[in-house]
Amino acid sequence: TVFLVVAGATSVSLALSACGKSEPEDSAKGDTVGIAMPTRASERWITDGNTIVRDLKGNGYKTRLVYGDDDPAQQVEQIQDLIDQHVDALIVAAIDNRSLRKVLQQAADAEIPVISYDRLILGTKNVDYYASFDNEQVGRLQARYIIEKLGIEDSKGPFNIELFAGSKDDNNTKYFFDGAMQLLQPYLDKKLLVVRSGQTKLDEVTTLRWDGATARKRMGRILAESYTGSRVDAVLSPYDGISIGVLAAFESDGYGSAGKPLPVVTGQDAELASVKSIIAGRQSQTVYKDLRHLAEVAAAMADDLLHGREPNVNDTSTYNNGSKVVPAYLLQPEGVDKTNYRSVLVASGYYTEGELK
Ligand code: BGC
Repeated sequence: TVFLVVAGATSVSLALSACGKSEPEDSAKGDTVGIAMPTRASERWITDGNTIVRDLKGNGYKTRLVYGDDDPAQQVEQIQDLIDQHVDALIVAAIDNRSLRKVLQQAADAEIPVISYDRLILGTKNVDYYASFDNEQVGRLQARYIIEKLGIEDSKGPFNIELFAGSKDDNNTKYFFDGAMQLLQPYLDKKLLVVRSGQTKLDEVTTLRWDGATARKRMGRILAESYTGSRVDAVLSPYDGISIGVLAAFESDGYGSAGKPLPVVTGQDAELASVKSIIAGRQSQTVYKDLRHLAEVAAAMADDLLHGREPNVNDTSTYNNGSKVVPAYLLQPEGVDKTNYRSVLVASGYYTEGELK
């Protein structure tokens, strides 16, 4: 019965040993998994990369981990190199979700399975599985926080809000934004939430490459143009790096002092700087996604594929990439603020209390 547990691979080695050849017990062990991550500029992707490597190595695999420095062309080259080095599987978090079609055709030609990591790769059937979070839920958690913090449901308001979204070439961007707008739109319609800049459409509020400095500039511009006689009460920010940039714009505009409190500012990723900012009472909220679990899911998918087993999925309808619906395993994100960071982030061992000092 023990042999049956790894049916695919073991039956091959049993068959080979029956005809006198010796094969290692598990033929996929020693295989190499190529891991292409988008950037080292945000701490989350460093955690992702390191954790996937650790999980795969723990399972007997070799790994090659590369970072694309937020440059789509560089990422294509890196994946090309990994294919040339004959990796056995690929785990890819894309920079530009539409730039990988050609290189993934090469992967398919070389029979290398591809797992789309966190961000769905679009426009190609050569994506086998998708490991991510419930991305709309991320946006809903941010929006719900704003609604509750402002007290809109207790008939307070109207309030001024400004909207930020992520990089337009990242498929997650519209899921985060749509999830948030599902909850915010009714209040915008009732004018209980007012966007004084008038910028409410996704293509008016994106932030190329999720860049904090770009967000800071846009916020500064909006403050100068639309808020000379009034105040911003809340900012929908999709990512901690953007939140930090936005907060810097407010602080240079005199917010954060007596009589001019900082607005409610959301975030995502529970990055260290943002959790510290939350504890210090600057950023209001973040959305925590346990990257240890995401890495584990992706590593298990690679392990299954390399053993000819079908990976575990829990969603087979949401993520259509334009060429196919990619079977996915989606994890649940969790909202974090000053009131629960200890019970969520410290108790789970994501951060130690000391790291947050
Ligand atoms: C990820 C987020 C991250 C953002 C910027 C998105 O694709 O899902 O967790 O904040 O990229 O790195």
